[in-house]
Amino acid sequence: PAAIEATDVSRTYQLDGVSVPALRGVSLTVAPGDYVALVGPSGSGKSTLMHLLGGLDRPTGGRLVIGGREVAALSAAELADLRNRTIGFVFQAFHLLPRTSAVDNVALPLVYRGVGARQRRARAAAMLDRVGLGHRLNHRPNQLSGGEQQRVAIARALVADPAVLLADEPTGNLDSATGAAVLELLERLNASSGVALVLVTHDHEVAARARRRIAMRDGVVASDSAAPAGEGGT
Ligand code: ADP
Ligand code: ADP
Repeated sequence: PAAIEATDVSRTYQLDGVSVPALRGVSLTVAPGDYVALVGPSGSGKSTLMHLLGGLDRPTGGRLVIGGREVAALSAAELADLRNRTIGFVFQAFHLLPRTSAVDNVALPLVYRGVGARQRRARAAAMLDRVGLGHRLNHRPNQLSGGEQQRVAIARALVADPAVLLADEPTGNLDSATGAAVLELLERLNASSGVALVLVTHDHEVAARARRRIAMRDGVVASDSAAPAGEGGT
């Protein structure tokens, strides 16, 4: 079964009484283990789509199924729970808690999952080891380089074993060598753990590395390299 399935999904914002159609009939499937680059010009709907795929926002039309659950049928609390169990997020800005150690930052999603303190620390330490930061457990974010901070954020996103990792310009704040190393790490984790990776990028070299490319234009899927020729999605 698909990890995420969007069928004719639309999202219209209301701005001062004016309707702004950000997405207009998007259909696509994210399969387990996928590696997708989401590209397109500014304003084409990439962020809106990522928010929907991650259950941070709801469609105003169409059908969206995340982890086998139809989003429209869920309460806000149920959607939040589904998001915590199914999706990991990585952003351009790392969004780590500044006064909290790396291991406690990474353990945070496990608090919401009801995992006990000893287990949390053990799993967070093991996850930090997998991203190459086993020697940085007790460092705070300001004691780490940008690349190390993004690795902590990646460890946090994956510690609860999500089906999908949504990464919005994850290398955008990093110099090119550090960014390349972070991208290689994401690819290695995608290959080894089977987590589906959906990556927003403006970098053509990054997009070219993905197994699948979805190009957005004016709120629609202009092309999807996984779709049969002539179709926009699915
Ligand atoms: P991208 O991430 O590709 O730059 P967005 O999803 O941010 O595209 O934006 C798609 C369209 O939706 C744009 O026209 C943008 O101005 C509009 N939009 C995005 N967020 C909002 C919002 N909160 N309120 C009103 N319009 C928005
Ligand atoms: P930018 O690329 O402009 O720096 P970010 O990558 O920081 O933006 O965040 C992208 C979007 O995700 C923003 O709309 C922000 O509100 C939202 N966001 C950031 N962190 C979280 C989070 N932990 N949970 C939910 N939404 C978030």
